[in-house]
Amino acid sequence: MSETGTSVVIVGGGVTGLSAAWWLARSGVDVTVVEKGIVGFEASGRNGGGCTHYQSPLFHEEQRLWPQMDELLGYPTEYRRGRIIFQVDPRKERFHEGLGLRLPKGYDWEVLDPRQVRDLVPLAGDNVVSGVRLHFGGHANPQRTSQAYAWAAQDLGVKILQHTAVSGIATAGGRVTGVETAQGTIGCDALVVAAGPQTGKLLGMLGHDLPMAPARAEMIVTEPLAMMPFTGVDGHGLYGRQTLRGNLAYGGGPHEWMDEVPFDREPPRPSGSVTRNLARRVAELLPKAAHARVIRSWAGVIENTPDGRPVIERLASPDNVTVATMSSVGFGLSPASGHAIRDLVIDGTCSFADLSKLSLKRFAGLRADWREHLNWLPPQPSATVAIPPL
Ligand SMILES: Cc1cc2nc3c(=O)[nH]c(=O)nc-3n(C[C@H](O)[C@H](O)[C@H](O)COP(=O)(O)OP(=O)(O)OC[C@H]3O[C@@H](n4cnc5c(N)ncnc54)[C@H](O)[C@@H]3O)c2cc1C
Repeated sequence: MSETGTSVVIVGGGVTGLSAAWWLARSGVDVTVVEKGIVGFEASGRNGGGCTHYQSPLFHEEQRLWPQMDELLGYPTEYRRGRIIFQVDPRKERFHEGLGLRLPKGYDWEVLDPRQVRDLVPLAGDNVVSGVRLHFGGHANPQRTSQAYAWAAQDLGVKILQHTAVSGIATAGGRVTGVETAQGTIGCDALVVAAGPQTGKLLGMLGHDLPMAPARAEMIVTEPLAMMPFTGVDGHGLYGRQTLRGNLAYGGGPHEWMDEVPFDREPPRPSGSVTRNLARRVAELLPKAAHARVIRSWAGVIENTPDGRPVIERLASPDNVTVATMSSVGFGLSPASGHAIRDLVIDGTCSFADLSKLSLKRFAGLRADWREHLNWLPPQPSATVAIPPL
């Protein structure tokens, strides 16, 4: 343990940092989480709650852990297993064929006809063209889950410093020795940077270039409706869930590219046009909910890397730094990303997945104008881009 502080400092009290804190504390490590605002107040508490990332190297661990998380954490996440994806555009009647090619072997799923979709999702209408049911994956409540990680970590002795922004990183002899805050320097033996869209800026302080493009995304929530037999329903470019109280909570493109997010910026606010667009598409997906009033909406920042995949890596230099930024899939993967970070910090390697595809090295040859090249630029004044549904 460092003479001036703690063994491990984690910058970022979102689900990635909190899960890592919990995993490290379970292994007896002394951890301090440093959060510039309130835990889970950024993307981690504002997302769609989807936990179905079959294209990630962390997928198997994601699927293994979610059904156990309430018990492991000791607090509710409201996890529910399974997804139904259905389409209402006749051109997408055979979408399951492409999806089937991408789904991992060994996980059950089935094609549903429109009647079967309506039996499980009574708010669907006569416009259903086809569906699939995944007997894996699922969804959870982002706010509940963020809080559950924080409480579970604190139960194991983790210190969480809220309203404490990290403004600098102290190094000596080629290693990180602490983080600088307005309240002083917090010493550490190892550092985890899990600061969402600000991760690139913090890594820049250590001389690393982590290319990231933040985007603003929105969610809407309707008034409560009668509970459906199945509550995790995607399609029509939307992702979402029915909450335990019956509200429909939905998000999905278009997402709006942003300039770099400064440390002191408040989360963005929803815009009327995206909110209306979401409400219209929810009514198209679930016509029997078309009468429901939208009672809440919010926006959050998605932390995109150029290939849309996370970066999870223990750096070669300084070698006591582990970085994790999740590129739009961080909520569902959080039980697994925390485990991976724990392994990297303690053992230097991940015990359950090959993380080579998530290494920062893959961006070594990236062209300097990659954002312009991908047209991932802030609105001028109204450019938007659709990010495919989960
Ligand atoms: C609308 C929306 C819908 C989404 N839907 C899904 C979904 O269905 N499924 C899914 O898996 N993912 C989804 N995502 C993405 C997911 O929310 C993120 O990938 C995930 O929350 C990232 O978690 P994180 O802890 O890495 O980052 P964040 O939640 O961004 O947390 C990082 C934390 O670091 C703090 N921080 C930053 N800089 C500093 C500093 N200098 N000092 C101290 N603290 C600092 C921030 O305040 C923040 O609390 C969605 C995102 C949005 C916005």
